[in-house]
Amino acid sequence: MQPIEVARQYYHDAYTTTFRAVISERTVAEGRPAVVLTETFFYPSSGGQPHDTGTLAGQRVVDVHVRESDGAIVHVLDAPIPAEVAEVEGRIDWGRRLDHMQQHTGQHILSQAFIRCGAAGTIGFHLGADYVSIDLDSTQIDETVRAAAFSMANEAVRSDVAIRAWFPTEAELASIALRKTPEVDGALRIVAIGEFDVSACGGTHVARTGEVGLISWLRTERLKRGTRISFLCGDRARADYADKHRIAATLSAALSCSVAELPDAVGRLQADLQATRRELGRFQEEALDREAEALRQEATGTPTLVVRAWEGRPAEEIRGLALRTTAGPGVVALLATGGDRTQFVFARSEDTTADLKGALDRALAVIGGGKGGGGRVVQGGGAAADSATVARALAAAASGIGGG
Ligand SMILES: [Zn+2]
Repeated sequence: MQPIEVARQYYHDAYTTTFRAVISERTVAEGRPAVVLTETFFYPSSGGQPHDTGTLAGQRVVDVHVRESDGAIVHVLDAPIPAEVAEVEGRIDWGRRLDHMQQHTGQHILSQAFIRCGAAGTIGFHLGADYVSIDLDSTQIDETVRAAAFSMANEAVRSDVAIRAWFPTEAELASIALRKTPEVDGALRIVAIGEFDVSACGGTHVARTGEVGLISWLRTERLKRGTRISFLCGDRARADYADKHRIAATLSAALSCSVAELPDAVGRLQADLQATRRELGRFQEEALDREAEALRQEATGTPTLVVRAWEGRPAEEIRGLALRTTAGPGVVALLATGGDRTQFVFARSEDTTADLKGALDRALAVIGGGKGGGGRVVQGGGAAADSATVARALAAAASGIGGG
């Protein structure tokens, strides 16, 4: 096997995207054909940075990982490379690689900025398709520290300093002050961002900080023992800015105000909506009062028996009507709403003794479903029913109640 520094060419050159290499092993990984090469520029998932994609001999490379048993870099393919092909051309998807280089380099810069601005070390790093984040070992990251760190990080980007990655000798390594003590055995790869940040890392990085372009803050989350900072770098940050600008422009056109006036405009809308809801609620209550009064007036008997069904009416409204109709003395109300979900609400005035539970049992014998409640209001139902069936169920319920 090749020494690791030879097998992993991306250690020395993150910009080469086309190369030739010899297949040293054909295998199966993740249920797909896979190959190991004498050397590769493909980055395998490691250190929080996702793997590269691309092609080998024209076949898609869908995953690249380090084999635990021997450290070999396994290229997982969507289709096998013909057996007679010994040497292959590798092509790496540059867009994805550059994106990872920008996010990862931005992470180094930001981690150093948080040490300097907030005495906060980085204990976690996530580079996902949707967001990038670092976990800091401090809960003291307020808005001032956060803003200062991002400002310092972007200043480091603007200074456009050179980034160097190399394997130092042990003697040289002893003289290097690393941001964080690494937990790996073997040769350490050092990544130095000018004088600004020196850390041990096996990932791919841009050659100068200027290529990171922009480091933009997304959000701060409190963790149990730290703080998570989500951010975007480079082209991702620019795309995010364009997206947010488009959304802000759409909203400001819809609300006929400037982007700066949006928060106030939305605040006013919310206040208006709340007032409107309150007013609507009052009107609905009044409408139910009138409707209940009319139902009671139309009914006869001792006790006065109100039997009525609707189609698809909210159960809450039926309940409101049942309570209102029976608020005064001498009324029993057997109300229902049919449709996709039948609901019965049976209520009686305090001074009546009608057996509501018995009435509900008779109704549910016609239409299946569960029930609940007790005292002067019971409620039940569940199954779907047409209006004829609901009428039959109500008739059955009413049959055992005096008056009518
Ligand atoms: Zn790195």
